[in-house]
Amino acid sequence: MAPPVEVPIAWLGVFPCCVGEIRIARGTHGGFTLGHRDDTSHEGLEIHRDPEAAIELARYDNAGRYRPLKTAPNLRHGWLLMVDLVEQAQLALEHFYPGRAAVYGVWSKRELRTTALRETLARQTGMYRVAAQISEEEADELVGNFCRSGGGCLRTILWKRDAAGTSPSTLLPDVKYDPKFDQTGRGESALPLLCQEPCNLLVAEARKVVKAAK
Ligand code: SF4
Repeated sequence: MAPPVEVPIAWLGVFPCCVGEIRIARGTHGGFTLGHRDDTSHEGLEIHRDPEAAIELARYDNAGRYRPLKTAPNLRHGWLLMVDLVEQAQLALEHFYPGRAAVYGVWSKRELRTTALRETLARQTGMYRVAAQISEEEADELVGNFCRSGGGCLRTILWKRDAAGTSPSTLLPDVKYDPKFDQTGRGESALPLLCQEPCNLLVAEARKVVKAAK
């Protein structure tokens, strides 16, 4: 069993609540249930009772494909995780969305530091160093496609493209940068999955764009 994760209670304060594609509710068994927000009926769902089951549930999508980006909107359906304690619900959420509760906690205290895309690219070494050569136009298009909530990633972007405060992408709607917006598009109240700095997958994509242009 993984060590307990210190998660701010605000992450799980009011039930039911939603985080990314997951809905957490009070269970009839007295504990908590976590399930896919699309699975509105509990009928026929695969039942799990160990928070560690979240590791496997988060690993593959509906078609059995590996999910390299845990905040991509492709969490598999058809399961229900029932746990007794709020700490177990928190641990499961940590497996579904690693690091997001802690970032939310720091952000809530207005202490979150963000890193611009250009800063992230400039500090790359080895085979990823070339990614810094991506042009402004290419970066605009890449972020607009790769980070979009519909089919890309459900995180709310807090970083800028550069130190001057340029928007990450002109192709993304303003709500992509708004922590109050439910990035699943359901229009429900949901805790945000915050993105404080460009991820490794985006850096790898930037490298591909640069290499392809050569
Ligand atoms: S940079 Fe952030 S928003 Fe974009 S894909 Fe990576 S984690 Fe998601």
